[in-house]
Amino acid sequence: MNLSIKIAVASALDKAGIISLVRKFRSTRGGLVLTLHRVLPAEEARSSFEPSVTLTDTVFEQLLILLHQEFQVVSLTQLINQPVDIQGRQRVALTFDDGWADTYSCAFPLLLRYRIPATVFLCPGLMVAGGMIPEERFVHIWRWCEDHHHLHLLLQDLRKWGLAGGDSQDRYTWSRLLKRLAINAKMLMLSHLERTYGVPGCEKRRLLSWDEVRIMRRSNITFGSHTVHHSTLTAEQQSSLDEELRKSKEMIESNIGEEVRFLAYPNGAYDARVAEAASQAGYTHCFTTRQGSFKHKADPFAIHRINMEDGALVDRIRSLNASRLRFHLQHYAGPALLLAVLTLRYASSLQ
Ligand SMILES: [Zn+2]
Repeated sequence: MNLSIKIAVASALDKAGIISLVRKFRSTRGGLVLTLHRVLPAEEARSSFEPSVTLTDTVFEQLLILLHQEFQVVSLTQLINQPVDIQGRQRVALTFDDGWADTYSCAFPLLLRYRIPATVFLCPGLMVAGGMIPEERFVHIWRWCEDHHHLHLLLQDLRKWGLAGGDSQDRYTWSRLLKRLAINAKMLMLSHLERTYGVPGCEKRRLLSWDEVRIMRRSNITFGSHTVHHSTLTAEQQSSLDEELRKSKEMIESNIGEEVRFLAYPNGAYDARVAEAASQAGYTHCFTTRQGSFKHKADPFAIHRINMEDGALVDRIRSLNASRLRFHLQHYAGPALLLAVLTLRYASSLQ
């Protein structure tokens, strides 16, 4: 079903009270694990390197209010350890991937305010001055070359490094190809391109500091691994795969002083070899980018989540904002729509 039709149907069902009824019957087992990345004030969200992985702080707060009122928000550990819901409400756990600095500056105060627990997946090798995830570094290089009319040279270079994007001028095509490179080659290539085109580094710190991590840990936020360097694990040789998994676990554990058992696969990339390596490295639960609900009987090394930054959903919310439904979005319809979309997604994932 097309998303706008889904939203219209869901909105009508929600108003008629049918969704709450359906949710009641389906809420006794499993739950939902939501995926978020960045939360930013509206003006910064627009200039984010990847608007599709960004929620504005207003939408995020609406989501938290909705979760607080309509769901039982639990930590990931509670969701996993306690197989049956005891309060008769659908259970939801929140996760943040990458460990952006705004998880602390923007999302954390709101999580505290609504007393909502969350798990943040960190890339400890990138939590250094000037550290950026490779995907964002690439976007910076692309934009710089675009602004300085060097795009044709950049495309030639990318082809030299073995990326088979042909004559495409579409950044997303090249970004997808970049994700398939092993981390060592990717880092070498990015450093080379930054030097060649004189791309300036980032002034603002992009990712969390360990001090921020420790402050959050004292307030109901837990941490998992997202590999050392945001590496696409399926692209790695065995030794590098093992190192990305083991080293990231050790680095986080030594900084927070407790065991790390959860891993989120960067770019959602995993296969049987990656899952086996994760198990060998000591992880007990691994999270994918596949859409679906959490089920206790499902494979713990391929847990489905629900991505809350679905471009279509966010675009829809933005378009509603601009239309005559603005008032409803702000006062009632926003949370109701989010709830409805969530519930519909949950229902369709059960089929
Ligand atoms: Zn990521």
